[in-house]
Amino acid sequence: MNQNNNSDERNPSHFEEGGGLAAQEMPEHSDLNWEEYREAIRGMRFFDPHIHMTSRTTDDYQAMFDAGIVALIEPAFWLGQPRTGLSSFKDYYSSLVNWERFRSSQFGIKHYCTIGLNSREANNEPLAEQVMEILPLFLYKEGVVGVGEIGFDDQTAAEEKYYRAQLELAKQAKLPVQVHTPHRDKKNGTERSMAIALEHGLDPAWVIIDHNNEETVESVLDQGFYAGFTIYPFTKMGNERMVKVVERYGPERIMVNSAADWGISDPLALPKTAALMKMRGIPDDVIKKVTYQNAIEAFGQSGQIDESVFANGLAIDQSQKMNGNTILRGGQQPRIAKDSLLIK
Ligand SMILES: [Zn+2]
Repeated sequence: MNQNNNSDERNPSHFEEGGGLAAQEMPEHSDLNWEEYREAIRGMRFFDPHIHMTSRTTDDYQAMFDAGIVALIEPAFWLGQPRTGLSSFKDYYSSLVNWERFRSSQFGIKHYCTIGLNSREANNEPLAEQVMEILPLFLYKEGVVGVGEIGFDDQTAAEEKYYRAQLELAKQAKLPVQVHTPHRDKKNGTERSMAIALEHGLDPAWVIIDHNNEETVESVLDQGFYAGFTIYPFTKMGNERMVKVVERYGPERIMVNSAADWGISDPLALPKTAALMKMRGIPDDVIKKVTYQNAIEAFGQSGQIDESVFANGLAIDQSQKMNGNTILRGGQQPRIAKDSLLIK
């Protein structure tokens, strides 16, 4: 895999520049097997505060549910190619609060989302202006737990303008903010994101700075922000590094996410990281904080998260319908037996 080209198509959300990371990120113990170690986390529950389910399959939903993921947050981001008009944004935001939420519920996972104009598309100013007009129509909807993911990509003037404008929207709506930090010049971009949020008078405890690494975490925590860590193969954090971060900084205000999307990513990053933490002797209460509780605490400030809804699992009825549609196609039976050879 080589994502280190200079193509405009590179995903600014979750791919990173700079060669050679892939080799460093290879696990030391390549014999570790998820199927063997998932036993270590049996009974644990997880909350993934950053995952793009629109890009994922029903198999992913089933595997996530089976691994203990009970709730998630899907931030609005970009499609991998530029949208050509406002209605494309509208339909996307609408799908996050409607169909995707319903689809998730059909697999027993509570779905929340954050709504925002992503940094990459902030650079199309005529369109960005129109998007700003419709954001309030979605920000006040049920189950929207923040403004996100917003922030910097290339750190342009337009990105800054719409980041600032959306911080103001977050203040008005009394919603937490989910900040995407840039891959290029990350340290500087992260500092700038925090300084601007403070300048707008946001309480750092309401701002989740995402995609941290060893270089940024200390400053983020010291300034009172939440620190999100994305476990994403080859490009961001590996989970062995994540274990070390938690050993060093403890669990307060740290949360782990997968940021799984349409790139090569892993929707089980959270349970896998929890299993690794367990194996490495990290106590259960610490694991729970960074893979479940802290995310609920941070995004729960929106007033939109009721833990009792998912704490003991959602009731699943895959024959339910939304606007007359079900996830079952023509006579399908609910939930397939994944380990069966026969496909009936
Ligand atoms: Zn994302």
